Amino acid sequence: MLLADNLKIVHSNIEAACKLSGRNPSEVTLIAVSKTKPLEAMNQCYALGERHFGENYVQEMMNKQTESAAQKILPDAKWHMIGHLQTNKVRFVVGNTALIHSVDSLHLLQAIERDSKKKAIITDVLLEVNVAQEESKWGFSVEEIRSSIFDLVFQHPHVNIRGLMTSAPYTMEANDNRLYFRELRELRDECRVTLVKSNQTEKAAIFQELSMGMTGDYVVAIEEGATMVRVGTGIFGERKYQL
Ligand SMILES: *Cc1c(COP(=O)(O)O)cnc(C)c1O
Repeated sequence: MLLADNLKIVHSNIEAACKLSGRNPSEVTLIAVSKTKPLEAMNQCYALGERHFGENYVQEMMNKQTESAAQKILPDAKWHMIGHLQTNKVRFVVGNTALIHSVDSLHLLQAIERDSKKKAIITDVLLEVNVAQEESKWGFSVEEIRSSIFDLVFQHPHVNIRGLMTSAPYTMEANDNRLYFRELRELRDECRVTLVKSNQTEKAAIFQELSMGMTGDYVVAIEEGATMVRVGTGIFGERKYQL
């Protein structure tokens, strides 16, 4: 299938899901997950109007950024880091991404704070939550976020925490993940209440994103309130891993 056809289908699914749940499609940002895919495919996607790209691997993202600058393509692309980030690679990502979705530990958040302070910038991040409590996945627990959101926000002045992210379990039946998406939305709402009650309306106001839903389940995620969906296979086709 052609990339243009795939994109058309994804956008019409997003619109249908928004319509069904009384949401405005402008509330949902499509992140085209381009990991393992060549710049050429990203550039096709860009030509069709996409601006948000998700990458999982720091080295791959850096190579693509360098190469796209050299070729003078993707000039205003927004790069999203969505994969597990090691603290020793934080410095390559801070200042070079629109949003880091995958902040999965306090240790990593502290490293991002330190590097952002050093560079005198504020870095936008999401906190990754392991809602389904999968052994194999990174992330904070729901309880950790609930009990420490105030400290997570306040002890990191060079980081803007813009919301929450989760990767739901792999399933053939998207509806199975509905409860996880709902739980993430409820957790976000609770965090906002906590911040408002602490008189931090500004911090509460920017804490609104829900990055959830991938190729298999983004429609359900949108119905449950996703503001960002991360779609790879549904746009670029299957990935061939050689990493
Ligand atoms: C690869 C990946 C995606 C995209 O997955 P698809 O099933 O190909 O849409 C989304 N989010 C994360 C964190 C990923 O690693």
